[in-house]
Amino acid sequence: MGQTIHFMDTSLIPIWEKVQRGERLSFDDGLTMFRTIDVISLGKMAHFVQKARSGDAVYFVLNQKIEPTNICVLACKFCDFATKAGQPDAYEMTIHEILHKLTPDIHEVHITGGLHPDWKWDYYLEMLRQIKQQFPDADIKAFTAVEIDFFHKKFKLPIEEVLKQLKDAGMRTMPGGGAEVFSERVRKRLFSSKIGAKVWLDIHRAAHRMGIPTNSTILYGHIETLEERVDHLIKLRSLQDETRGFLTFIPLAFQPGDTGIKPTHRFTSAIDDLKMIAVSRLMLDNFPHIKAYWVMLTEEVASVALNFGADDLDGTVGGEKIAHDAGAITPMQLTKEKIIKIIRDAGKVPVERDVFYNPLNVFSPNVIGQIPYLNSVPFYHHFEKRKFKLLPVSPRRMGDLSRNNQIDAGLFSLADYLSQKDILTPLPYCIATRDQVKSVMLFSNHGWQELNNKVIGIIDDTATSVRLLRVLLEKKHGVKAELKRLHSGVNDYEGFDAVLLIGDEALRRQKFGLEKFELVYDLATEWYDWQKLPFVFAVWAVRKALPLASRDELASLIQDALEKGELELERISQMHAGRIGLNPMEATEYLQGFNYRMGEREWRAIEVFENLLASVETEVEQK
Ligand code: SF4
Repeated sequence: MGQTIHFMDTSLIPIWEKVQRGERLSFDDGLTMFRTIDVISLGKMAHFVQKARSGDAVYFVLNQKIEPTNICVLACKFCDFATKAGQPDAYEMTIHEILHKLTPDIHEVHITGGLHPDWKWDYYLEMLRQIKQQFPDADIKAFTAVEIDFFHKKFKLPIEEVLKQLKDAGMRTMPGGGAEVFSERVRKRLFSSKIGAKVWLDIHRAAHRMGIPTNSTILYGHIETLEERVDHLIKLRSLQDETRGFLTFIPLAFQPGDTGIKPTHRFTSAIDDLKMIAVSRLMLDNFPHIKAYWVMLTEEVASVALNFGADDLDGTVGGEKIAHDAGAITPMQLTKEKIIKIIRDAGKVPVERDVFYNPLNVFSPNVIGQIPYLNSVPFYHHFEKRKFKLLPVSPRRMGDLSRNNQIDAGLFSLADYLSQKDILTPLPYCIATRDQVKSVMLFSNHGWQELNNKVIGIIDDTATSVRLLRVLLEKKHGVKAELKRLHSGVNDYEGFDAVLLIGDEALRRQKFGLEKFELVYDLATEWYDWQKLPFVFAVWAVRKALPLASRDELASLIQDALEKGELELERISQMHAGRIGLNPMEATEYLQGFNYRMGEREWRAIEVFENLLASVETEVEQK
């Protein structure tokens, strides 16, 4: 993980030192980075962060853009898409026409469009319902904050009610458009009738609180200043600190078209685009993903951006009109094969995803699953990859990928290792607790005995902890509760008597608490007090089909990485503590609580758990 950068611009060196220590960058750091001419060093810093967050993965989704109408009550100056009813180019799509554009292979329907003066509220709800009904595998990402605000005013419904009804009708996430630049100066000059920063941020805050993850954007390359760009990033970062509801950030390069905006009758330069991507990755330390939106960047710039901090290429994007009406010169749609080629050419692993960034298909050999939580960092921090590539993925999804022959090895959730013993061989490494774990936590309003017949929400990521919870409930405490999985990426805990969280989110909540839940139980402590044994949450394993030489090579790489990682626990902890909200000492203490090597007691613990597991229900109902 160590990396040397030869800086041409020495003003970047203090920023690099902060980045390596995992420290947050300031407003001035943002400005320094935008002003630098040392673009290569900037890109290397951003790539360092990108690799730490996303390994070698670059995501894409098979998606279809639906812009139901271009008739709009507003007339924003930079918009070449909108028109008025009666104009020759005005169009309105029926639900039938919308459905006709969709195909069963897509996983995301992205809906945004003009603010139509006459359409009824029911039309929007019915549109979502019918899409959901006819294309159940496609998740709907719909309506920018500008549209949500329009619905709120036009249909006289509170924002939360608008969001609730859309969510009930099938909306799973929201796109990030309409943010433009959070500057009153720019807003007054370019889109004075459109919502400003406060309303945009309030709507996204409300969505996050209701369990609707969203994306975010900036429209750059017109009349905004560099200070306004940095201010925009910092405002987004602050909201993310509060809600953790943003999935990705998408810098949108301004397409001048016939908008008449001066003095920028030009497309952004490739250098400016790459700086924007890199600075975003570095400033937005709490954002999981940064997207290189090829539609606006061009395929060539988007390809380079995959080594400048971006880990997402959006998707096939069939049907996009807004950017193309404004003069985007890119093709209207890329094939899946083309996207895979662009990602491979950038030296990355193409990963087809769903709307929540769950991996569905991996297009590369020798891929190793990486648990993306702090507790596994000692294995990965010094991991020398050689021919192997790393894919960060939640424990449950890693099991699914292995079942579908998509990865060759990984730190598998114990439950997945046990259920796939016929195709997996264990290596002598694991994540096992000594007594407590702090990152597999049940937040509850009831004591264990009172949980009988209660409803417990289960974070989507877990494969083993949910089974451990079931064993504890039924075999230790003699109670039966109803377990329901939360939707992936959603932190809506409304209506549950208790919630099971794992990983870094559990660690953060263990420190700061979870609103409305007063009691907190550490499942590893519950297990230890009962069995006087460690609990093994994850086991390193490789596919039996992998050649023996590769297996041995991987085992020795893990051994080397772990030895180095254990010697540097404090430094590694410091690098990661901030993004979780811990101080370095708390993070170090947390990591010291694990045993990373399989021993007799760990195998014994697995055997005891497997026997208990055989007599409890393991299916969990989807919410
Ligand atoms: S940017 Fe959106 S709100 Fe503004 S005119 Fe265009 S479609 Fe309408």
